[in-house]
Amino acid sequence: MNRVGIGYDVHQLVEGRKLFLGGIEIAHAKGLDGHSDADVLIHAIADAILGALGSGDIGHHFPNTDERWRGVSSLVFLKEIRRMLEKRGATLENIDASLVAEAPKIGPHIARMKAVLGEALGLAPECVGLKATTNETMGFLGRGEGIAAMAVACVSLPK
Ligand code: MG
Repeated sequence: MNRVGIGYDVHQLVEGRKLFLGGIEIAHAKGLDGHSDADVLIHAIADAILGALGSGDIGHHFPNTDERWRGVSSLVFLKEIRRMLEKRGATLENIDASLVAEAPKIGPHIARMKAVLGEALGLAPECVGLKATTNETMGFLGRGEGIAAMAVACVSLPK
């Protein structure tokens, strides 16, 4: 039985933070603000997988009131979610995600993000879809005030 899930997240870009996207650090004047490393792409993917499992969301499983998750790499969340998938006898079939960022340029980093995300989730690179677009200078994303991500995930579960 196949199940799909959807995830969306947005974080503010601020000075004095490192920028993490898709599990890698990217050189940029600003970083995303948040309790963990604020990797908005991983958070959207995590919510998509949890959605496919019908199992709450990232805020439920990894609350920002929990000191365990302060400053932690969001790859840790994927590791935990992989454990949840295993527990349910579920197989993650593929993920597909889009980043919305005015800057920095995401294109040069896509291949490495796909490799890191695929490794973390046990997916072949062709099962990790990853695209990026700008917001055409419109709105808060277009002004570079933050970065947003959306993702879908397909999970197969035993009948
Ligand atoms: Mg988040």
